[in-house]
Amino acid sequence: MQVIRFWLIASFWVCFSSSHLVGAALNGKVIKVADGDTVTLLVEKKSYRVRLQGIDAPEAQQPFGQAAKKALSEKVFGHRVTVRWDEKDRYGRLLGQIYLGEVWVNQLMVQDGYAWHYTYYSKDSRLARSQQLAREASRGLWAREQAIAPWDWRRGKRPLLEDSLEASRIAQIVYVTPKGEKFHRQDCHHLGTKGKPEALASVRNRGLTPCKRCHPKEDP
Ligand SMILES: [Zn+2]
Repeated sequence: MQVIRFWLIASFWVCFSSSHLVGAALNGKVIKVADGDTVTLLVEKKSYRVRLQGIDAPEAQQPFGQAAKKALSEKVFGHRVTVRWDEKDRYGRLLGQIYLGEVWVNQLMVQDGYAWHYTYYSKDSRLARSQQLAREASRGLWAREQAIAPWDWRRGKRPLLEDSLEASRIAQIVYVTPKGEKFHRQDCHHLGTKGKPEALASVRNRGLTPCKRCHPKEDP
């Protein structure tokens, strides 16, 4: 009985004494915005890195990454905010909800189209709804044809459509000599050094025909 009582008291002591570590509300000033989902909060003389929980903003190099950082800066930089958090990530950042007065900043970022709802870690229906609305209204990052999720981007995914459009645009360039009636591939021996690049559609319009030696690319 003594032992049980000891452990009860001990565990209560651990719970309460470390409550500032296992989840709490912090009040402080945002002194840095690292990107669209990470800020540094100064509370008295201590600073805390805070990762906005449940959302994921585009990476710095990603389309809209800088816009997301700017958007978050405009909302919270230099302001006093409340951060509610209950766990840390593996980088030691507090995973938290940021409130500017009554405004829930995490949600606002998603609602404005500056961040994704981080569905792998968050099942929050309000964030899901905010993203759906942003998407329907083509707000922010949703204005792009192909918005790549930051988690996919980090694994190396890039916009395939744009790449293939670029590739096909290049593929549709053929080469002609000043007096030629045929069009060629760039490496065709008939071209010599006089070949000039021209769009396939254009040489077709002028009535040129493909060279029988080099077989330049035909229209798909
Ligand atoms: Zn040729």
